[in-house]
Amino acid sequence: MPAVALNSLKLEGKKVLVRCDFNVPLDAGRITDPTRIDASLDTIRYILAHSASAVLCSHLGRPKERTPSLSLKPVAEHLTAALGKKIALAPDCIGDITGRMISDLHPGDAILLENLRFHAEEEANDRDFSHELARGKNVYVNDAFGTAHRAHASTVGVTRFIAERAAGFLMLRELEALRAVTENPAHPYVAILGGAKVSDKIGVIRNLMTKVDAVIVGGAMAYTFLKARGVPVGKSRVEEDKVDLARELLAEAAKRNVAFLLPIDHVVASAPEAGATVETVRQIPPDKMGLDIGPEAVAEFIARLGGAKTIVWNGPLGFFELPEFAAGTLEVGEAIANLHGVTSLLGGGDTAAAVAGHPWAGNFTHISTGGGATLEYLEGLELPGVKALEA
Ligand code: AMP
Repeated sequence: MPAVALNSLKLEGKKVLVRCDFNVPLDAGRITDPTRIDASLDTIRYILAHSASAVLCSHLGRPKERTPSLSLKPVAEHLTAALGKKIALAPDCIGDITGRMISDLHPGDAILLENLRFHAEEEANDRDFSHELARGKNVYVNDAFGTAHRAHASTVGVTRFIAERAAGFLMLRELEALRAVTENPAHPYVAILGGAKVSDKIGVIRNLMTKVDAVIVGGAMAYTFLKARGVPVGKSRVEEDKVDLARELLAEAAKRNVAFLLPIDHVVASAPEAGATVETVRQIPPDKMGLDIGPEAVAEFIARLGGAKTIVWNGPLGFFELPEFAAGTLEVGEAIANLHGVTSLLGGGDTAAAVAGHPWAGNFTHISTGGGATLEYLEGLELPGVKALEA
């Protein structure tokens, strides 16, 4: 049975524990990108508008114990402004004071619990902690797609103690977008992968290879594959221990008749540094590293993507944090976004950050808020946080 949708529950008068993904980037205590918070606002508004009270919870960062710099206080402030009503921050996610604050909530009120990961029991999926977290709540809603690949107390354990549970609207949107590219996708289907590490994406490449017509690889990952093909890569970032595996994946693609495109030219420099002397080359000199795909690769990739009906994209195609090496990612991104009649799914925090703020970014069919969760879904793995919602 698939997960129940939030709008099929009767919420009136109930206390709803909502697992959100408020794991937002912070700079000196300021939220630099509130996308993940804003993506859950419709779920929160719906609960409050249906005369229920919302007990919001999330992790932030990777603390092992109470860490003041990773308090959810800035998130409470952002929520207060976004919802136009005071969202108090409880001093902890469990305990008597928090319990009293929750029992004092009226229908239409919301409260935010302090960072779940201030307790090691959260990641350990501890039974007693899960029980405590469930105390005083009648309904559980999971809207934290970005954490759905983790079996933690707030994503899995807690569901043992709250019978009525549902997927929030963000979770539903994310799953719907992933289903659209995995269950009977329209062909031609092209996967484009980038980023730093081949090791993170082996499972995805293997699984997508059984579904797609072409795999395009850019970013640092491409150099491990180019090395496997015997192409000189200079000082480019290569995962030496994955070269044999890359060779296997290339052979597998050939066997399956899946086109496997690697960049034919490169933007190189001595190091990924602002102001570095940059050149575009077809053959990487021994003292240089490939930091972006070159213009010929951009044109070839765009031409291949132009014929697609389904596109999945994960991982930047260059060292996009520096403008010198961002062109490949942005030109290919803009071309995908402006295609008509194509289902395009963009996943991964870095890829989303690379396109954020560009006027065409809104043209993708879906930009996922999840990195690891999207990759695991595309790998064909079951997401424990989604499984736990199923009846
Ligand atoms: P990932 O987390 O695996 O998606 O990797 C994202 C990171 O890969 C970003 O920080 C990029 O700057 C980096 N990256 C992309 N292309 C390259 C490249 N050619 N050389 C070094 N780093 C790169």
